[in-house]
Parts: sequence; structure tokens; C-alpha cells
Amino acid sequence: AALSRVADVDVKGGWKSGDPVPYASLAKTFSLIEATTKRLEKTSILTSFFFLVIQRRAKGDSSSLLQSVYLCINRLSPDYVGVELGIGESLLIKAISESTGRTLATLKAELKKEGDLGLVAMNSKRSQKTLFKPRPLTVPFVFSSLREIALSSGHSSQAKKVSIITKLLAACQEMEAKYIVRSLEGKLRIGNAERTVLVALAHAVVLADKEQNGKKWSKEKLTSRFEESANIMKSVYSELPNYDLVVPALLDHGVMKLKNVCKLTPGVPLKPMLAKPTKAIGEVLDRFENKRFTCEYKYDGERAQVHKLERGSVAIFSRNSEDMSNKYPDLVEQLSHCIKPETKSFVLDAEAVALENTTGKLMPFQELSKRKRKDVKVEDIQVHVCLFAFDLLYLNGEPLLQKPLWERRELLQKYFQVVPGEFDFARSSDGESTDEIQAFLEESVKDGCEGLMIKMLDSDASYYEPSRRSVNWLKLKKDYLAGVGDSLDLVVVGGYYGKGKRTNVYGAFLLACYDADAEEYQTICKIGTGFSEEVLQSHWDALRPLESQKPRGDVKAGGAKPDIWFEPKVVWEVLTADLSLSPVYTAAQGLVDERGISLRFPRFLRVRDDKLAEDATGPEQIAEMYERQTLAQSRGGKNNKAS
Ligand code: ATP
Repeated sequence: AALSRVADVDVKGGWKSGDPVPYASLAKTFSLIEATTKRLEKTSILTSFFFLVIQRRAKGDSSSLLQSVYLCINRLSPDYVGVELGIGESLLIKAISESTGRTLATLKAELKKEGDLGLVAMNSKRSQKTLFKPRPLTVPFVFSSLREIALSSGHSSQAKKVSIITKLLAACQEMEAKYIVRSLEGKLRIGNAERTVLVALAHAVVLADKEQNGKKWSKEKLTSRFEESANIMKSVYSELPNYDLVVPALLDHGVMKLKNVCKLTPGVPLKPMLAKPTKAIGEVLDRFENKRFTCEYKYDGERAQVHKLERGSVAIFSRNSEDMSNKYPDLVEQLSHCIKPETKSFVLDAEAVALENTTGKLMPFQELSKRKRKDVKVEDIQVHVCLFAFDLLYLNGEPLLQKPLWERRELLQKYFQVVPGEFDFARSSDGESTDEIQAFLEESVKDGCEGLMIKMLDSDASYYEPSRRSVNWLKLKKDYLAGVGDSLDLVVVGGYYGKGKRTNVYGAFLLACYDADAEEYQTICKIGTGFSEEVLQSHWDALRPLESQKPRGDVKAGGAKPDIWFEPKVVWEVLTADLSLSPVYTAAQGLVDERGISLRFPRFLRVRDDKLAEDATGPEQIAEMYERQTLAQSRGGKNNKAS
């Protein structure tokens, strides 16, 4: 069944062994994936395509598979290198117009109707009469054209980009234009999560190996091999998120041996481990009962993953794997004071926190966010920063992810030294009673922290789990305890024009969560209170350039009807006191009920510049919060009755 779609994604007669991968085959793959919502079907379509790529590649070639993978996830390089697409609408419309001869006005009108520039491009191509058939597009040609576009900068770059896009569009056939234009926009919108790509890659390599070596496996053997290989692939990629390194190794060594050759490497930022929210100390004790755990201050700053290669310089990466070394030149300098001579290479997990200049007291995140994001010069720095390290993931050539936390912490404290005001270890307390945790929590808040992080200390439950929101890390925020509710990170997808005094700004906003599996934004609530005039003005400035008459194709609006839609980009942290089922909104639909879940009395807390739209809270978390609330209410109800 894994290869049942080979015939569907193949290009009959047009793809021989050793040929470059025809883009037509990839476009077919995309359209089949887009047409189904079933995860297994998406996986088998993609497995079939990757299988063909592997089978038909020239001997020793890994770039055909590598480029195919990048196009499937709509990226052109590892995340942290930052070669990005996201070409503006007007430039694309100009290129479509130049390539098809349709006027800008016609194209804009059609875009208003369709809401998808990819479709507009495809329709425009279809209605265009051509005298001769262009040479078919290939994956290497499309990939290098996209890279050239992404990398061109400077004042003549607009014209250059239009010319490359026009050339690409001129060669498009069938549905190719749709996907080329969507790739250029930076959003493929086919519902193809990266996880599916990893699983399909693993399956395709297993099948290609089986075929090549004439292995006769039973159905059970193949199923278990599939499962094992997919797990290996996911785990390797979370440790080394770089396809440039993983794909060639995969082809050379197969999946089963991948762990031996692809390991956490300084210079390649890994996706950080995240924590689950918890509402009460009782919940912490339930979870960690009879286990060793530690409580650490939850600093209110910015996550910083610090890497150093032997004889290399220090690099600092953000929560989203962006290189922040230019934002924190002072930290880079400060780090040299805290590294002991025997510490040659390392990866640290830490939080960068603003300090008050005179007293050295911890300042809230808002202070830190006043810093410029790029090209900061040490002499211009106003906001002083200290690094609080809480984990050590790699030391002197050896990954430490699979050592228990107590051991990683010991190494951290042994190989680094405290420099007051510059570098310190996260304050921790291993006290285990409710009273001790409560006292430490109060202390953390008094010292300017958000609350506590509570972490498993011992056994395999305390291994570092990259990219996971793990139950082995719990966060206990003071807000939760005050009973004011949960905070969520939501994407602003729509606006409502203001009335009365607010006519020159948006008066309310439509928010959405993000479903990474379905790759879609699901609406969750309208928010319109708690904004000062100044804040409304800054929202207007940030959101106005993102306006659009129609929701983007990946926004599942439900019954929400804002006056204007926004490109999903801006993330806000929002507090809610209560969640309820809603016939209007689509968040978490089908998870606890046919209806969606909505926030009641949402309150704006702050803009989350450090998060991408894809990092917004997901539907499972919202469903979990809803269920927790229902459970608490039913417990409360019982208690009330009993009393
Ligand atoms: P939040 O919205 O609460 O900041 P988040 O979604 O960015 O959370 P979470 O996993 O929910 O990420 O919370 C963990 C964050 O808290 C980390 O990303 C890190 O930036 C910060 N943090 C501060 N102190 C610690 C600590 N001692 N251990 C781990 N993370 C810490």
C-alpha cells in the first residue's frame, strides 16, 4: 500500500533513470496530497514520489532527493540559514501579467474572487494560447531559480526577480504554475506537515533498500520496519535539523544506521524542548510523585541556545533557530568570561534576561524587547543582558541529550563559571513539598520571574526531548495560580473597523490557533477590549500591510466574518478566563465536540515577536485546556454538593 500511488505520481515515458526529477511529477504529488485530508494517504503519496526519486537518481546523487524534500516543505535551506521566499503579491501579479499577457486589473479582480494567486496563475496559463510546447520544468531548475530569487537583493533585485519568475511561469504546464506561485508566496497550502515528509522519507528509503536487495519481508516485518524507521528519522531530525546533512547520510547509510552518523552538532541549532502548563502545585506533585524533580526560576526573557565549535566562535540562536549573534554581540563577548579553559565545544540552553543597569535587578521581557533585533553595536547597548543557563546539551564532542538532567546540570556547573551580571545558572531548588514549592514560587515572582519550571531530574524521563512540549517539564506561572486563566499564543487573522473614537484604527480582531498537522489556522475568538489607544495604533501600523479582502486559503474561518482579513503572521499572547464550545469558530473542531472551542473574555497581553505564526498554540492544547476546565468544574460541582 505504501507504493500504491507510484503510477499516479509518475510522468509516463518522461522520466528515465539518471534524468533530473521532472517538476510535473512533484506537482502531481502536491495536487494529490492537497486533494486528501487523510494523513496515511498523504504519506503513501509522498512515499511513492520519494521512492521514484531514489530509484531513478544517478549513481551517487543525493541532490535530487534533497531538492525534492526542500520543495515539499517549501524551504530552500536549513531554517537557521534564513534563505527565505515570501514574494509580495504585487510583484507576483506583475510577473504573471508579463508572462501571460493578462492585465494587472484582470488579475487583481480574479484574485479577489479566488483568494489564491496560485489558482489565478494556473487559470491564466490555461487560457493562454501557446504555439509550441515549452521544455518541461525540472526540480533542479525550479529549485535553483527559487534560490536565486530568494538570494537576490539590492536595488535592481525587483526587476531580476520578475524576470526569473516570468521565465519559470513561461515553462509551466498543467498545474505547475499553481504550485510555483504558492512556493514563491512562501506557503504551499497543501496540508503537508513536515512530520509527514520525514515519515515518507524513511518509508521510501526502506522500500528502495528492500527492492534493491531483493528482500522478502512479511507484511508484519515491513510494518514494524516502517514504524521503527519513522521513529529514527523523526528523532534524528529533531537533533540535527539540517536536510543538507541528513539526506545524503540517509542515502549512504540507510535509516537504521542514521543515528550513528547524524548527531547533535554545534552550529546546527536544534528545536528546543518546551513545557506543559500546569495550574496548581497539586498537579505537579501528582505528576512527579515518587520521582526526583527540580524547580527552577522561569526567567522572563528570551530563549537563547548558545553553540560553540572547537576553535570556532560563539553563536546564539533563538527559539525559532534564528541566528541572534548580531542581536546579542554583548552576550557573545560576555560568554568568553564564563567558559572554563577545559570547555572546548558546547551547546547551552539558556534564557537571556534584561537587567536594570544600576541595581542589577531582573527586568521583564518588555525591557528586552526594546533592543534592536539586528546589527546591534556593543557601544550603543542600553539594555544590559545576563544569560541564565539551565541545560547543557553537548560538551567537548559529545551529545548529552540522553543523560539524565542531574548529570547534565553537574557538567554545566563544572564546565562554566558564574560571572555576576553576565552569566549565571538558573536558580533552582530541589525541595519537594507543597510548602517548599509554594515558597520558591513566591520568591521567584518577587525576584521578577514569571514563575517556576519544574523538571524531572532522574531516569530516562529526564532526557532532553528536542522540539517536544513534554510532560517532564511543567511550567507554573504566577498568572495561572492567581486564577486568571491560561495564556495562549494566537495569530491575528482578521480585523473589525473601529467605531466612535476608534474609527481610524481596528476596534477588534479575529484570532486563530494553528493546526500544524492540517497546516491551517482555525478561528477561536474575537477580541476587542483591554487595548489602549496607543496599542490600537501600533496594531493598526503592524497589521495594515497584511490586509486582504479574502481569508487566505489555509484560514478555516467557520462563521467568523471580520471586515478585513490579514495574512496570518502576527502572534499575540492572550489570556482567557474560560473556554466554551462554539458553533461559530473552528478551533479544535472534532477533538472534544463537533463544534469548535472558543475563548470567553479574552484579554490581550503582548505581541510575541519571537514566535512565528506556525508556533501558535495548537488545537490539541486547546482541547486539553477545555477538558481540564470541564474536569475542574465537575470536581468543583461534586465538592459543592458534598458540602
Ligand atoms: P511562554 O509563552 O510561557 O514563554 P513558550 O511557549 O515560549 O512559553 P514554554 O515551553 O511554554 O515556551 O515555556 C518555556 C520557556 O520559558 C522557554 O522557552 C524559555 O524561554 C523560558 N524559560 C525561562 N526559564 C527557564 C528555565 N529555567 N528552564 C526552561 N525554560 C525557561
